[in-house]
Amino acid sequence: MLFEYHLNTEKEGFYNITSYVRRALIESRIDSGIALVYCPHTTAGITINENADPDVVTDLLYALDKTFPDRPQFRHAEGNSAAHLKSSCIGASVSVIIDDGRLVLGTWQGIYFTEFDGPRARTFYVKILKG
Ligand code: ZN
Repeated sequence: MLFEYHLNTEKEGFYNITSYVRRALIESRIDSGIALVYCPHTTAGITINENADPDVVTDLLYALDKTFPDRPQFRHAEGNSAAHLKSSCIGASVSVIIDDGRLVLGTWQGIYFTEFDGPRARTFYVKILKG
């Protein structure tokens, strides 16, 4: 089953979407399989990281900025090559195991939509695969 969600983002940030994925899993009525969370954008991504201390995602954004600064040598006319680099670094999807009707996530893990551009109207998908 495929679920589509919409998100209005600020300039940059990590948006915790774990509750959306849990809702999709409940609606699917599937108790064993895989949840694939996918983002169809080139300046955003999907990742799993710490859900308890908000300083962690702040530090991740800081480190990504330091690792992928905007450079005058970039040729992309839209002027957001750093956002494209961060997107490719983070990746467009994650897969989470479903067992006994729940997402197999660690206590401190959350699923995040990562915005590196914007503000933008964004979309992400949750595909629940039985197995
Ligand atoms: Zn661009």
